Amino acid sequence: MTHKPIRGALIDVDGVLHIGDVPVPRAADALNDLRRQGIPFRLLTNTTMRTRAALGKLLRDFGCDVTDDEIITAASATATYIRKQHPDLPCYLLVSGNVVEEFDAIELTNDPDAGLVVIGGAGREFSYDALNHAFRLLLNGATLLAMHKDLYWRMADGLSLDAGAFISGLEQASGAQATVVGKPSRAFFEVGFDSLGLPPSQVVMVGDSILHDVVPAMEFGARGVLLRTGIFKEGDLEKATPDVVLDSFVDVPEYVRRSHQQ
Ligand SMILES: [Mg+2]
Repeated sequence: MTHKPIRGALIDVDGVLHIGDVPVPRAADALNDLRRQGIPFRLLTNTTMRTRAALGKLLRDFGCDVTDDEIITAASATATYIRKQHPDLPCYLLVSGNVVEEFDAIELTNDPDAGLVVIGGAGREFSYDALNHAFRLLLNGATLLAMHKDLYWRMADGLSLDAGAFISGLEQASGAQATVVGKPSRAFFEVGFDSLGLPPSQVVMVGDSILHDVVPAMEFGARGVLLRTGIFKEGDLEKATPDVVLDSFVDVPEYVRRSHQQ
């Protein structure tokens, strides 16, 4: 498939610009290079650990020239979805990390009357009691909403279980089916393309997850760039074929430049 020159970028964050609390070497310089090239970008992240404001600050501390408005997180997208689709339902929120401020104007409750179970990124908060409370709410007919269903992610000390592993258990035990708001749901990518104001054919998606970043974007007709950082494993290339595999985000500005010379 011949591609058009790249006019905009959707960029995954964790495993791409940083891994846990550690920046990927020279990734900030590369992001700033895209800015200088006049390539608009949105950071499209399944993170549910941080608000957009907190993530923006972290990235700026790493040297990235990025505004909070250029960040779209699974948590912020989930809050937007709830305000639109379920504005009146009390919500049981199970998430690791401080994203409650994204849930402005949404009623959060630990009571048994919650009509909505919202699961975000996993951590120590996913205790037996918390998961069992979610299970009972679902048995009572509550709607199950997942910020994402990522099975694992890479923390500084290694791969770690994420929400998807717990959500699958809740689905099987309760019979409920989760609606996924973050990657790889089509809706999340549509928000990204719309925000750029560009057709997917002119956009590149850059990420470290073949199934959650690269494949869904390529299904829209965007270019898919898989990086050999973060959760990348060689076996990923047996699951699907990205347009290109690059060693790290550092190689992305040159790839974008070359797209204008083809
Ligand atoms: Mg990632």
